[in-house]
Amino acid sequence: MEPAAEQRLEHLLNTLREQGCRITPQRIALLRLLLQSEEHLSATQIHERLLEKFPTMSLATVYKTLSLLKEMGEVLELGFSGAETRYDGQSPHPHPHLICVQCRKVLDPDVPAFDALAQDIAARSGFHIVSHRLDFFGICPTCQTDAPPAA
Ligand code: ZN
Ligand code: MN
Repeated sequence: MEPAAEQRLEHLLNTLREQGCRITPQRIALLRLLLQSEEHLSATQIHERLLEKFPTMSLATVYKTLSLLKEMGEVLELGFSGAETRYDGQSPHPHPHLICVQCRKVLDPDVPAFDALAQDIAARSGFHIVSHRLDFFGICPTCQTDAPPAA
């Protein structure tokens, strides 16, 4: 794990401890997975991966931990109608996403102009922007290659 991620892990564990949350090896493994993964995993995917090492871990523990992290503002929750909610533990602040409608891969595209756009919208509207959501839906390069030729 990167030193910055290790530091963040320590900070999260301390905060959870302060809130009276029991720190178990399962919880530490969940946090490590969330802080290291760029995949925007769902709760079920997180659970499946942790089951390999912790066969008795329940899905409820995964949901409980995710909900605590969300309250702490340390995970970004991406809900979709008709598909599982995905979680970004690397970057908890709102940012644009790129979503493949075939394999449901979720990526963080580099959008250099985005912060300026958000500031511009706030300035023009007089809104104090507290959050935002920008999703680009499409078919990723891998799924384009896998697709059968059009009839
Ligand atoms: Zn895809
Ligand atoms: Mn993201």
